[in-house]
Amino acid sequence: MPPSAAPPTVPNGRGDADLTSAAVEHIMAENGLSTGSTNGHQHIHTPSGHGSGVSRPNLQDIDASKLTYTFTTLSRGVPPPDVHSIDGATVCTDHMITVKWTSKSGWETPELRPYGPLALMPTASVLHYATECFEGLKAYRGFDGKLRLFRPDCNAARLLTSSLRISLPAFSPAEVEKLIIALMAVDGPKWLPRDRPGSFIYLRPTFIGTQAQLGVQAPSEALLYIIASYMPILDRPPGGLKLHTSPDDMVRAWVGGFGYAKVGANYGPSLLATAEARARGFGQILWLYGSEAYCTEAGASNFFVVWKNKEGRTELVTAPLDDRLILPGVTRRSVLQFAREHLAGEVEVVERPYTIQDVIDADSEGRLLETFAAGTAYFVCPVSLIHHRGQDIQIPMGKAGEGGLYSLKLKKWLADVMYGNVEHPWGVVVQERR
Ligand SMILES: *Cc1c(COP(=O)(O)O)cnc(C)c1O
Repeated sequence: MPPSAAPPTVPNGRGDADLTSAAVEHIMAENGLSTGSTNGHQHIHTPSGHGSGVSRPNLQDIDASKLTYTFTTLSRGVPPPDVHSIDGATVCTDHMITVKWTSKSGWETPELRPYGPLALMPTASVLHYATECFEGLKAYRGFDGKLRLFRPDCNAARLLTSSLRISLPAFSPAEVEKLIIALMAVDGPKWLPRDRPGSFIYLRPTFIGTQAQLGVQAPSEALLYIIASYMPILDRPPGGLKLHTSPDDMVRAWVGGFGYAKVGANYGPSLLATAEARARGFGQILWLYGSEAYCTEAGASNFFVVWKNKEGRTELVTAPLDDRLILPGVTRRSVLQFAREHLAGEVEVVERPYTIQDVIDADSEGRLLETFAAGTAYFVCPVSLIHHRGQDIQIPMGKAGEGGLYSLKLKKWLADVMYGNVEHPWGVVVQERR
């Protein structure tokens, strides 16, 4: 074989058995980024030093310092505290940030501009092949008057993991984090007013393939945008959150799939079961997996159980990340970290597979203490009931009926960081423009 016809070199030398992780590692290496783990999805470290994630010549990384500002000329009013959407449309703030990318020149100059419709060709990649991923994080108006984001570095890193999974390009997560902060610096003062301490805004960084070509291929053009919206408080539904287990003929994600990535393709197909559960009076689906019926996630939140194990020790248990079935939540990670720090000696923290039968057994043996959903949208939301195949599992909701002891403790610790009751590196203060 002449040298020019030699097969491409396999980047990690592991052959063709793990094409997906090989591809991700290849893209990361090409862009001067390191996944920091062989799983490639949990801990992404941007290179230290200059922080540019795109080291290929002539390809521009996102550069947040070049952000241009075009301010709105409309004067829209801030809605009353309980209004989140109008005529079925989410209320967003005055501005959004957009950054275009092309495979030829890389990232263009980021722009802050008035919130409004996007122009897309009907042939755009995202509309046909679901080349879309997103993030969700909140900005919090603290009781000290300051505006904070909660661990935005984790969201920016996860956005990168998700984009690579669907062949959208790489970027330096630190630059995206700066853009998120820049949007809140402009829209925070008006849309999250100081006289509403304890309130929040929901930020939605979104990344889509925009190339206008109906070929099933990685898009050569893409658009990253960041919007800020209102969202109702979901963490204290009256009587607790009620879950319905997923139907026998459906799974949310599967081993070898992309449940670990926040890609739009994971959510559309989940709406059917959710609508049916809602019609029956339940709030969310508890997604089970496999013939063993492992508990994975509750809706778009991670799921936690507190029980006495068979040896009589108190355990906080949640599904593991290593099989890549579940979304590695920032809230999940923070709950686990806080529990390991503050509840050591009292509660054992375990990430491992457990089945719905384990939960049923714990209930019938009187060992089930608490369950809760945890995620940015639902925060830490106590679950009062799980309905599984005609059977109701009732879960204790604590003395005041607002959640169990540990759920409420964890919730308070996290809220204290978010709303500035304690100084903590996870609470990132936004310097607001006034
Ligand atoms: C976003 C999401 C979560 C929660 O992640 P956080 O980072 O805590 O908001 C959990 N599960 C799924 C499926 C999600 O989409």
